[in-house]
This record gives sequence, structure tokens and C-alpha cells, in this order.
Amino acid sequence: MSTAREQIADVLVIGGGTAGFGAAIAAARCGAQVSLLEGTSKIGGVMAFCPGMPWGGGYPVGSTIGGVFEELTSRMVNLNPSAALVRHSTLENFGAEVIYDHEAATFTMFEMLEEAGVNVHLNTIAGAPTLTGNRIVSVEAYDRRGPLTFRPKMVIDCSGDGETAAKAGVPYTVGNGAGDMMGVTLSFTMINADCTRVFADEDPYFERYAAVGVAEGRLHPDLAKLYLMKGFHEGAVFCNTVHIRGVDGTDPAAVARATQEGRRRCRQVARFLTESVPGFEKARMTDLGPTVGVRETRRLEAMHRITGQEIARATKFEDGIVACDNPVDDVMRGDGAMTHEAAVGKGAFYTIPLRTLIPKAVENLLFAGRLICADAVAFASVRGMPQCMAMGQAVGITAAMALQNQCSVQAVDRGQVVAIQAAQGVNRIGAVAA
Ligand SMILES: Cc1cc2nc3c(=O)[nH]c(=O)nc-3n(C[C@H](O)[C@H](O)[C@H](O)COP(=O)(O)OP(=O)(O)OC[C@H]3O[C@@H](n4cnc5c(N)ncnc54)[C@H](O)[C@@H]3O)c2cc1C
Repeated sequence: MSTAREQIADVLVIGGGTAGFGAAIAAARCGAQVSLLEGTSKIGGVMAFCPGMPWGGGYPVGSTIGGVFEELTSRMVNLNPSAALVRHSTLENFGAEVIYDHEAATFTMFEMLEEAGVNVHLNTIAGAPTLTGNRIVSVEAYDRRGPLTFRPKMVIDCSGDGETAAKAGVPYTVGNGAGDMMGVTLSFTMINADCTRVFADEDPYFERYAAVGVAEGRLHPDLAKLYLMKGFHEGAVFCNTVHIRGVDGTDPAAVARATQEGRRRCRQVARFLTESVPGFEKARMTDLGPTVGVRETRRLEAMHRITGQEIARATKFEDGIVACDNPVDDVMRGDGAMTHEAAVGKGAFYTIPLRTLIPKAVENLLFAGRLICADAVAFASVRGMPQCMAMGQAVGITAAMALQNQCSVQAVDRGQVVAIQAAQGVNRIGAVAA
């Protein structure tokens, strides 16, 4: 029986980003009693840290991946007034994306969790697990009242950083394996911009203007390309352009320092835009992220590691649980540049296998989202938020099946997971992906 500081759950989901959102809803809809722990006060993860960040990659080869992502999108599109829009990205090699009202997205995600019966614990940080043999028997957590203990039958780590999974003994690599992680980013929005004039230029990255700003010392040298896109609301421009290199996203002090440096650079960019880029004369900054968005920290070892070669060959795995054609979106790793080369040939896509989310040894642990087992090239493509939601959906189903069949997560019939995922509207997956 659950007591105030000791909680029993069928499934404990750690982290309420896009992956945790998908996982918690899917497991609860399969009949499991689900607790979702989120360390901050909002659902969304990177969506909450970078308010307004578009959902990219939801439409490989022009049609929706389906599932929880599509459900969320259509609920928001159908709100009155409508709170989301599907459009083509202005950036190279990115296909269609969803741009949306951030507050409506937060509200709708909480509503979907509520409807599924998920027990959401905000401002609650999960810590170390205790294991008996290869099974996690409890997970320590902490909220403002102090420590509490969860005794779950299944654990799904969607924390992005994977502290709990790592402490359960799951091997991992950090960044590209040599420890280099992609840059972190602080985003903001400019409102009251004249978007017709701002986006009149053909150059998607405003390089001509940025070059002047960098040469005159008004912009940081890493701002040679400006990543600016129309926001959801009229006159809003979402600025996803202040990237900071060499930050260890698992170190809270390093993240805090990067956030403060990011604030300085965001202010610098906002000033530059109003002074030097046509259409921004009357604009002003709003929605500065509460913290930098962290793209990459730990990647856990699993039954399969998806590789750059596999995605380039447009591999469709028998246990493929979501389609993807996102570019290889690598962001300032080490001394590297920002690249987004096409991952697959035109008109092609690959699928992400469920085995990339199942550890080799721990029998009641799964993970999803940016913790996926992938090499550095594949990781740069698979990490879109729609894909993270679908990964979460697949492991939520897997956890519920392991409970129903009283088996380990490794022994779950993956074909059946794909079949359930397909019945829930996820498209072009499994052996029949086409
Ligand atoms: C700056 C930036 C720009 C991006 N741009 C795009 C884009 O335009 N389009 C797109 O589709 N994707 C984009 N991505 C990629 C995408 O946002 C991420 O890959 C995706 O959000 C990862 O989802 P996640 O749920 O795995 O992790 P996260 O979003 O990182 O969420 C993890 C959650 O777990 C919580 N957490 C962590 N540790 C604990 C703990 N111990 N206990 C409890 N809670 C915990 C965190 O607070 C967080 O809410 C971008 C990423 C970044 C960082």
C-alpha cells in the first residue's frame, strides 16, 4: 500500500519531457498504474526550457508518424482558437514541422496525462535505485518535503541524463564517446516584428547580416548563422540561435553558468536584430528560456545500437517503432560547426528499433528519448521531439506488456508491441514499413 513518503506504482516514469509524456500516457492507457516524476514544474522537457521550439520530424516523407504526437497536434490544431500549425521548415533538409502556442501545448499535455490517469509528481527528482539481482526494487526521490521512496514494478528512464539508469548499472557513453557533447542553446522570441520584411531575404540563416555583427564585435563569433523562424503568433520570431559549446549538461553548475552566458548573448542578439536587421525595428525580446536546452549527455547501452550507416541505408527494422527522415542535425560539438546534412536519400526514411531502448541486463528498466542507444551520427537524426514521443509510446506499451506477461522487458514480444503501436495509429513501422 502507498503511504505518504512511500509510493507503489506499476510503472515509474522518470522525466516529463516529450519521451516521458509518451511513455506515461501509453503505459496508463494499457491499464498500468503510472507515476511520472518531473524535476521541474512543467511537462515538456526541452519544450519547456525553449518555449516555442517547433516539433520537427513528425512528417517523414510528407506524412505524419501518427500516435500520441498526432493526437496532441490535432487536439491543438482543433482548439478554438487553433493553437498549432503544420508548415514547411525554412531550414535546409528539415521537412514539415509543427509550430504552436507554448502555453496551450503545456495545458493540453497536462490534460492528456490527466485523462490517462497518470499520477504526475512535479518538482520531484528521482535519484538512485536499489536492485535485487537484475531488478530494480525501489527508486529514491526527493521533493520539497524531503525524501520519498517509489517501489515500482517497472521503471522507464526518460530523464535525458539517465542518472537512475546509470546508477542501476546500465553502461553508457557520453556525447560522441570522446566526451564531446553538442552545444546547449538558450532560446527567446522577438515579438512585434514585421515578419514580411524579416523573412523577405532568401538567406534562411541571415548570414549577410550576421557577418557584419560578428566582424564588428556585436555578435559572438558562433553567431555567423542566425537561426530565426516565424513563431506561432503574428509578429513573433523564434530565435534558436545562441549555442554554447563545451557544456557538460549533467553538471548543474555548468548548466547554470551556460544559462547566464546565454542570457548575455541573447540580449546581444536582440539588440543587434532591432538595430541592424530590417523588420525588427519595433520588436522586443520575450520568452527567454528559464535554462539552456541540453541536446545530449548520456546515451545508454541497449540490445541494439542504431548507427549512421543503418540510417543512411534507410533501414526498416522488424521492431521499428517510429519512422524518421530528420537530417543529421549536429550542433557545435567540440570545435565542430552546425550541420544538418540529409540523413537519407530524397523520398526515403528509416525506422528506429525498439531494441535501442531496452537495456541488456536490467529486467524491469526501459528508456526513451535522447537516452537512446545510437552512435553520434544516428543520434543527431533520431532526436526530434515527435520521435521522442513515439519512442516513449513504444516503451510504455512494452512496460505494460512485461507486467501483464510477468516477464522481463527483454522477453517481451516486440512484434506485438509494434502491432499495438500500429493499432494506436503509429504509421509505417515494423516489418511492413513502406
Ligand atoms: C536547444 C534545442 C533545440 C532543439 N530543437 C529541436 C527542434 O527544433 N525540433 C525538434 O523536434 N527537436 C529539437 N530538439 C531535440 C529535442 O528537443 C530533444 O531531443 C527532446 O526534447 C528530448 O526529449 P526527452 O524527453 O528525451 O528529454 P528532455 O526534453 O531533455 O526531458 C527530460 C526531462 O526529464 C527531467 N528530469 C531530468 N532528470 C530528472 C530526474 N532525476 N528526476 C525527475 N525528472 C528529471 C527534466 O527536467 C526534463 O523535463 C532540440 C533540442 C534542444 C536542446
